[in-house]
Amino acid sequence: MNEINKATAELQAEMTQRMALNPGGTRRIGNFGFIELEESWGDEATIINTARISTTNQRLKNGHDFNERDRNLLYQLLRDQHGTPFETIYFRFRFIAPIFVLRQWVKHRVSSWNEFSMRYRKPISVAYIPDESARTVDGYAVLDDTVMSEYEALMGQLFRWYETQYSAACTRIDQARESGELAPKEGGRDPYRGRARELLRNVMPVAAYSDVYWTINFRSLMNFFKLRRKKDAQYEIREYADAAYALFAARLPLLAETMQRVIDESEQSPPSEEHAGRAE
Ligand SMILES: Cc1cc2nc3c(=O)[nH]c(=O)nc-3n(C[C@H](O)[C@H](O)[C@H](O)COP(=O)(O)OP(=O)(O)OC[C@H]3O[C@@H](n4cnc5c(N)ncnc54)[C@H](O)[C@@H]3O)c2cc1C
Repeated sequence: MNEINKATAELQAEMTQRMALNPGGTRRIGNFGFIELEESWGDEATIINTARISTTNQRLKNGHDFNERDRNLLYQLLRDQHGTPFETIYFRFRFIAPIFVLRQWVKHRVSSWNEFSMRYRKPISVAYIPDESARTVDGYAVLDDTVMSEYEALMGQLFRWYETQYSAACTRIDQARESGELAPKEGGRDPYRGRARELLRNVMPVAAYSDVYWTINFRSLMNFFKLRRKKDAQYEIREYADAAYALFAARLPLLAETMQRVIDESEQSPPSEEHAGRAE
């Protein structure tokens, strides 16, 4: 395993701190992964009140002790795909995941992303290392220990190459300044170091970890759960989707339970011929 850089050590310390501050809202995943449900806005009462705009002026308070009518309404709205009331509540997750997981995740376009760019700081110097269960299909290990040692060595080589080349580029920039070839550094970001980071990040593998804030409304989150918690979704994104689901369900158990009921019922009823193929 290669030595981690300063930014990565700080991130590791931050994850430990977040786990201590928000134990019920955080999870570690894989060798360096992390997810936190940082904030949410609205709850089941928000959805029910929105849906009742045409029928009553009575409004539930958030966190209300829901009666049978409320529960039924929530179920019917979900079952009959009354979409917009479910767009009124929001969630913000932060996650640290391999870039190949992010490439699948970002396809969920109805959501907001902010990702660590590697332009202003050095990359996170840790790569995803699949553990035994990630490497095993029906009891058969598709990558053995010898391959895994080579995989880890390759990743380490890339991170070390980045560090060596970045530090060499910085030395050259400093020398060019001392000799007067480049103007002295003014305040703000150093454009030469910045350009070096922009170019050197190109060698980061898709197994390298990145850091994202993800904000999403419940309608779109439900679509994400439906697609990414299913068996045909890739193992690694499923791990994150399952963790996101567990954090969401702990916060809004009635909504989670109702959503799961509707998903289970829809999966039990056979698809019509028109929708029988797998939509991508
Ligand atoms: C098992 C699996 C395999 C996949 N394989 C691939 C792959 O090989 N390559 C690949 O590129 N992607 C792949 N995907 C990604 C997939 O095609 C979707 O892009 C992804 O799941 C996001 O789903 P979505 O479009 O429903 O979500 P969002 O983008 O969040 O959209 C939510 C909903 O909004 C509506 N919507 C959004 N944008 C539009 C639009 N432009 N026009 C009309 N309606 C819109 C749709 O109703 C959509 O369901 C795969 C997904 C899964 C689950």
